[in-house]
Amino acid sequence: MRITIDTDRCIGAGQCVLTAPGVFTQDDDGFSELLPGRTDGAGDPMLKEAARACPVQAITVESE
Ligand code: SF4
Repeated sequence: MRITIDTDRCIGAGQCVLTAPGVFTQDDDGFSELLPGRTDGAGDPMLKEAARACPVQAITVESE
């Protein structure tokens, strides 16, 4: 899996962090970023759910 966060689109709603706290975190400004070492999602079952939960579709999950 490859996860991309469109930081221009992210509004810092935090839904991704709430849904998949094992993959996403928020930076000091509240915008989404990947936890260190989790750039592939590490098989987190909530990953796709987190992408769906984002209100502005800023998260893209692709199979490699
Ligand atoms: S849910 Fe979307 S808008 Fe909210 S912090 Fe995550 S990526 Fe950004």
